[in-house]
Amino acid sequence: MKNMLCPKCHSSEIVRLPGSIQPPSTLGGPKSLSAFKTINTTQYCCANCGFSEVWVDDPDDLKALLKKYGF
Ligand SMILES: [Zn+2]
Repeated sequence: MKNMLCPKCHSSEIVRLPGSIQPPSTLGGPKSLSAFKTINTTQYCCANCGFSEVWVDDPDDLKALLKKYGF
């Protein structure tokens, strides 16, 4: 999808949308998750069939996610 070609319908009409992954459970309570910052993402959405996928922008953020949610 990063090559701006839809893997489903092979359309090249791809839109890029900025997004983010927010730290979970920020509703009240102490800020114990300060190590987990907001992660910037880019969503690629096919304007033809609607297929979309999300990519994390910064590889360092991926390591943080792995630490937090990896098995
Ligand atoms: Zn498509």
